[in-house]
Amino acid sequence: MINANVFPEYRGRMEYVCLGCGQRFPIEELLYTCPQCGGVFLLENLDFEQLKQRSGKEWRALFDARAASKNTALRGIFRFYELMAPVLEEEDILYLGEGNTPIVESSAGLQKETGLHTAFKNDGQNPSASFKDRGMACAFSYLQHLVRKHQWDQVLTVCASTGDTSAAAALYASYIGGPVKSVVILPHGKVTPQQLAQPLGSGATVLEVPGVFDDCMKVVEHLADNYRVALLNSKNAWRILGQESYAFEIAQWFDWDLRGKCIFVPIGNAGNITAVMAGFLKLYELEIIDSLPRIFGVQSHHADPVFRYYAVDNPEEREFHPVTVEASVAQAAMIGNPVSFPRVRHFAERFEAIGGKGIFQVVQVTEQQIMDSMIRANRNGHIACTQGGECLAGAMRAGQLGLVSPAELAVLDSTAHQLKFVDFQNMYFQNSFPSEFGVSSNADMTNQPELIIQPEERKRLTPGEYARAAADKVVTRLDLKKK
Ligand SMILES: *Cc1c(COP(=O)(O)O)cnc(C)c1O
Ligand SMILES: [Zn+2]
Repeated sequence: MINANVFPEYRGRMEYVCLGCGQRFPIEELLYTCPQCGGVFLLENLDFEQLKQRSGKEWRALFDARAASKNTALRGIFRFYELMAPVLEEEDILYLGEGNTPIVESSAGLQKETGLHTAFKNDGQNPSASFKDRGMACAFSYLQHLVRKHQWDQVLTVCASTGDTSAAAALYASYIGGPVKSVVILPHGKVTPQQLAQPLGSGATVLEVPGVFDDCMKVVEHLADNYRVALLNSKNAWRILGQESYAFEIAQWFDWDLRGKCIFVPIGNAGNITAVMAGFLKLYELEIIDSLPRIFGVQSHHADPVFRYYAVDNPEEREFHPVTVEASVAQAAMIGNPVSFPRVRHFAERFEAIGGKGIFQVVQVTEQQIMDSMIRANRNGHIACTQGGECLAGAMRAGQLGLVSPAELAVLDSTAHQLKFVDFQNMYFQNSFPSEFGVSSNADMTNQPELIIQPEERKRLTPGEYARAAADKVVTRLDLKKK
């Protein structure tokens, strides 16, 4: 009999492994890039093999039982504790309600419009309204573990961001409080009021640097190399680990059967797609799933280095080149030189070794398609952000290219909540995109508030007359018929 409320006894032994030179490092120190070669890390559990003592069936039963657990340390992304960071103690685990986001099948109306079978996994329904919370829950739990172990009296967490990373980091840091203080470094004047509001509201120190995201990133890297600060950009391998929960949840949602499923993920810094592939591979190795889903990365034509790399058919001839990005509505994915690209290549090869060519692909979409798709999705009951729109556009592109069929289910990642990107919706509805985006609105899909009665009219009327006059305007506007 499984007691799903009991925190597991199993502990692994984890190490950083450099994807550049293969060198390994202990996790006792906070490392972000390899001191030998500058490569990026993965975290590896040296005792992963021990997990095979339990059958796939037993793992499935355990995770299904934990889905009903009332223990908050096992309720969120750590439902999959043994696959995630099994070096943490129960008291280290931070739970702010992240994970377990729903997969919502598209309405019949939307499926008719697109000719595809689609569903959105709404990662905007995380506490800070993006998937970044998955990674932060893991990274901050590990940080809490280190603080406890070393009795640190002060830890500064830093990240460069223009939006969701800083919102999530500031939220988790503010919850821990005490020795943990959050600093976010933002490009001055390049953040909207909404993007600023979250870290400010969480009480983070918000420092601005004139320039763009890349300038902020360089400042943060200098700090991480030379001072005792915890870097929370996606170089941090603990974040990738937490984001693997996205894949675990998809598998569980479909009762561990991934046949006929295509997973669409937007690619920016490429941390998320890395985590999604890494997660499915772990499940496969433990025979928790018996087939891998197909993975589709999606990029905008304004920020598409990963697409360009994989567009070369012969793997021998592929070369990675950073691109100079242009304005993108998929702002959270507007990155020309993704930090996690070596991780993508690593996991894509492993996917192909199991599932053959075509199991991992990258499609490219236009800014116009991204906006049209987001608006279309949300007019049909979804809550997709622009990156979610990018995924729907990607699925439609894949459909056009004959890469997916309506017999398959395309699971689309809405990486954040619609409301975080409301400025782009407004630009669409007002057809006011600056020319560099190359987007104009489809008049059938715009929407504007209508003022039905002028303020001057109100002044001329008594309160009773006014209510009646306003109601009459509504009747006329809607052409209502009497009961
Ligand atoms: C960070 C982010 C992305 C890009 O994810 P990467 O891991 O950088 O590829 C996409 N959408 C949203 C909403 C994000 O916050
Ligand atoms: Zn190295």
